[in-house]
Formats: sequence, structure tokens, C-alpha cells
Amino acid sequence: MKAIFLTAALLSASALSACTSQAEVKPERKAKNVILFIGDGMGVSTVTAARIFAGQSKGLAGEEYELSFEKFDNLALIKTYNLDAQVPDSAGTASAMNTGIKTQIGKINVTQADNFGGCADRKAPVKIADLADAAGLSIGIVSTARITHATPAAVYGHAAARGFESDADVSKNARDAGCTDLAAQLIASKADYVLGGGTAPFTAGRNDGRDLTAEWAAKSPDHAYVSKASDLRALPSAGKDVLGLFTKSHMAFEADRDNSREPSIKEMTQRAIDNLSARDTGYFLMVEGGRIDHAHHGTNAYRALTDTVAFADAVEAAVKSTDPSETLILVTADHSHVFTIAGYPKRGNPILGLVDSAAGKAFAYDKDGNPYTTLGYHNGPNIRKPVSEPLTQAQVLKPDYRQQTAVAMNAETHAGEDVALYATGPGSEAVRGVMDQTEIFDVITGALGLTPNE
Ligand SMILES: [Zn+2]
Repeated sequence: MKAIFLTAALLSASALSACTSQAEVKPERKAKNVILFIGDGMGVSTVTAARIFAGQSKGLAGEEYELSFEKFDNLALIKTYNLDAQVPDSAGTASAMNTGIKTQIGKINVTQADNFGGCADRKAPVKIADLADAAGLSIGIVSTARITHATPAAVYGHAAARGFESDADVSKNARDAGCTDLAAQLIASKADYVLGGGTAPFTAGRNDGRDLTAEWAAKSPDHAYVSKASDLRALPSAGKDVLGLFTKSHMAFEADRDNSREPSIKEMTQRAIDNLSARDTGYFLMVEGGRIDHAHHGTNAYRALTDTVAFADAVEAAVKSTDPSETLILVTADHSHVFTIAGYPKRGNPILGLVDSAAGKAFAYDKDGNPYTTLGYHNGPNIRKPVSEPLTQAQVLKPDYRQQTAVAMNAETHAGEDVALYATGPGSEAVRGVMDQTEIFDVITGALGLTPNE
């Protein structure tokens, strides 16, 4: 537990300059806390479709509905490319946000000269969490993916390959060079409150026989490890440094989640805020909706949209339980997906359904005489072909239905267009225009008065 009280946290630069030399003046700290929400793969088309889906689930036509973060005042478009990739992955994009430096695809918080698979433990770029910890702030990480997956790992770790989740995954070259795995890096990090999935890299999936969950709990009498939702709920809301890992790998999709076994992203976010805000240190909290991306890779729009709505609910909980004058809330995606909303369905047509017809027929038909869905993917496993059995509405509305694709691939891919960044709270005025993803680092460090170059 950190015990620094920041009752004077919002001191202005001019007040500081009265008692320090000019050279020592720190940038003004505008925000006491920053919460960075990342919807993994939550491109603009996903937000639009989720908005309609959420509105229709409330009995509305849907198009007019607003997700929680769509009410924020400040907005930018974010360029997401990696150092070497037009269409990025989550490792490179999370690195850009956490260090202000783009990496090659698949690498987490390494210098641009690091070779893939090599040791990245030397000269790792400084992360937001490093600067925040040095300034006495507390650090929280929440994800519905494995906590060693690329997006959460970029908050606390660095690796020349995103797959270095346990010691069993680290390449021989990297091991010989003294590199450590991401699970071990989390346990050794300054993170104060961590909830997500993925016990395997901490326990059974290791070669070295260590039980890193036990090592977390042994760090101090104030440290606690939980693996059951009921044990998390039995903990006091404040006073503990918590590691909670509820599944062997990723947590369930929201559509499949058993609340008695796994907390929702909203519950995890709420508990993180309750715990971190009670410290009165100020905090940096990253919350990832990690499985929007996974549902899209399987071209299953239903689970992608239900996870996006659950993610928006977590943002709403954060807005309601923080002071808008002291907490900067950012909501973004790391990258987009090849997910489209197309055809000319009429207003209020079920977003997961077949495109209806304006010509008095039941549905609109393609050149082969087959109906088609509003939602589709450019590539992925369920390629569209001329079919003898036309799609039916009942078929496409089933939760397990995989939308059709144009290009046959085993898994649907990310997309390269810009994503949105929504912002509210102190420092959010810096979010405007077309920005590079690395500038999210500048927005956060700027709001917290952290000085990256020290
Ligand atoms: Zn992905």
C-alpha cells in the first residue's frame, strides 16, 4: 500500500514555483486520477452497431440511442498503425499508449531497435505506470482477457514477443539473455489492484514450478489473491492490494458469463475504483474489454456487441462513482476490425437480422437471390457463397451465428482505419482532431503532471 496523501495534489505550477526554482517546476497536475478504458477491437462500426443493439434491447428503434461514453464532450480520431504494420496488433498499439513509442507488431514496450524474440529487459521505454508510481500514484489493471495478454501486459511489462506470458513461453535466446516472462513481471511490478483472467501463466503453465499467485499473496499482510468471485466479494472494499484471476485463460464472453463464478467488467471496474480511490494517492487505472476482439475474430457479432455493451456499462459505473473535477476518463479502442453495417435496412430493423426489403418482399436479396445480414465482415471463416438453402431470420438471430465474409480466412482480421477516443474530465480538452495513438500517452502524463523525460 502506498501511503502518500495528495491533499495538495492539484497544486498549480505557479504555486509550486513560489517555493522551488524555475528549473524544478513540474507541469501542472490537472487530474488526480486517470482511467483509460480500452475496448479491444472496438472500431467505430462496432460502437455504432452496439449502440443500435443496446437501444433495441430497450425497445427503441436503436439508431438514436447513446452508449455511456458517447455523451463525452471531447473526441478525436486515433491513428493506430504499428512501427512496421499498416494494420496493427494489440501489442504495438498498447505500447504506443503506455510509452508514447510505437513498436513493431507483436512487441510490448520495447525500444524500436529490439529484435523479435530477443531480450527486452534492457533499456525498456518508460511506461505511464512507472511515472505514476514514482509520483506516488496507485496503479490498477482490469481486463476480461488473460492479464498477461498484450493490452493489460503493456501497463506493467515489456517483452520482445507478446507470447512471453509464462516462463514456458519465453524463447531460449531470450531466457539466456535473462529475460523474464510477463506473469513474473506483473508480480514484481508496482501494480496495486489487478483483476482479470489467466491463472495458467502464473501456476500450472510454468516450467519453473513457481506459484506466482502465492508469491503475490506473500508480498505483504495487505496483499490478497482471489480466484473466485465470491472471495472477491468477501474482501473489504479497501485496504488490500488484490490480484484476482478468475479463469485459467480468458474470462467468459459477457453472453456466456456465470455471475457466481466470474465478476462482470462493470463489477471489476467498480471494485477497482472503490479500492484505489480509498487510498487517496490518486491513481492510474486501465480497464480493457478484451473479448470484443475475440468475438470479432470468430465473426460472431452477437458476442462482440454484448461485450461492447458490457464495456459501456463499466464506463457508466466509472462516471457515476468518480468526481468529474478530478478524474480524467478516456475511452478508446486499440484498433478496429473488418466489420461493416451495410445494405439498406429500414430504420429499427433488427441489427443482427437480415436486411429487410423496401419492395414489398420479405427481405432484400443479392444477385444470386439470397437474403443477407446487415452486419458482415470483409474476411474470416464463414465465406459467403451462392447457397441452395437461403439464410433465415431465425438462423441469423441465434447467438452462435457467425456473420458471412467475403474473403476466406481461418480467423477474421483487425482493420487499419482510425478508431475514436472519447474523453471527459480534467485534461480532456487535449483530445481533439486527428491524433496519433502515441499522443494518448501525452494526454495522460500531461493531465497527471508527470514528466516523461526526467
Ligand atoms: Zn485481435
